Amino acid sequence: MSAQIIDGKKTAELVRAEWKLRADKLIQSGIKPGLAVIIVGDNPASAIYVKNKVKACSDVGIYSEVHSFGKDAKQSDVLDCIQALNENPNIHGMLVQLPLPPHFENNRVIASIAIEKDVDGFHLYNVGALVTGNTVFPPCTPYGVMTMLDRYAIPIEGRHAVVVGRSNIVGKPMALMLLEQGATVTICTSRTRDLAQFTQSADILVVATGRPRMITAAMVKKGAVVIDVGINRLSDGTLCGDVDFEPVKEIAGFITPVPGGVGPMTITMLLCNTILAAERAQAGIKIR
Ligand code: NDP
Repeated sequence: MSAQIIDGKKTAELVRAEWKLRADKLIQSGIKPGLAVIIVGDNPASAIYVKNKVKACSDVGIYSEVHSFGKDAKQSDVLDCIQALNENPNIHGMLVQLPLPPHFENNRVIASIAIEKDVDGFHLYNVGALVTGNTVFPPCTPYGVMTMLDRYAIPIEGRHAVVVGRSNIVGKPMALMLLEQGATVTICTSRTRDLAQFTQSADILVVATGRPRMITAAMVKKGAVVIDVGINRLSDGTLCGDVDFEPVKEIAGFITPVPGGVGPMTITMLLCNTILAAERAQAGIKIR
């Protein structure tokens, strides 16, 4: 039997509708949630992501503003901008679109964001909070994956979760969030010997490598939950994930498509984190 498709688009719509009610409540009490996005350079993919984030904000009633800097911008100018946004009471969430140009120090830039406005959850304080189970803002992509698992009532506790990829924005926080929910977690990387040996034993397999269709049907256990984070553009212009969707769909129990899987969830969780930041600001909640 073919796998049940985990519909990220539909799930994202449901989650957005729920959080829009929370945003509406804030607006009625005089607080419009606000998100600032900082973009440096002329990476075309980054420009599209930022445009999509701005549109998503307006759909749920979040105010947004974009601060664009040229590729030769000085880091100090970006830090000054972040400082001003830290002090701006109308801005509750802020993110710096990555990647930054090579002359920027990523950690220094992210570390200058106020932790209570760090809606991407990339500040080292917030990374530490996640590691110790005191999450402030769950990083958006793994948060989106966890939300999909929850909405499809997929149990996590006691199951073997295999995460392929160890990036700071997807693989590592994904593994930590599954661990926190009681999964037994294995992390695989490009250095893993005999990857299939691990993936074949996964009850939940999350793949975030950026390698088109690298997970084949032979690498997946029958009935497994397969979450494909990858977004790859092929030479013919079409998009595909890191999982060979059609054959794997015949083996898996649940599977996310690309597009229409994890992607729509990522932006949605950014909106949720921004609304949460505004709620905390209204309640006067300090993170530390
Ligand atoms: P990175 O390039 O930062 O990390 C990729 C990871 O995959 C690395 O840890 C690397 O291992 C590992 N890897 C690469 N090749 C293999 C292999 N053959 N076997 C096992 N592991 C391998 O990518 P990101 O984590 O940022 O993104 C991953 C994918 O997810 C990309 O396609 C990206 O576009 C997509 N993405 C999608 C999002 C969404 O919203 N759906 C959001 C963010 C990313 P090593 O560390 O050893 O090099």
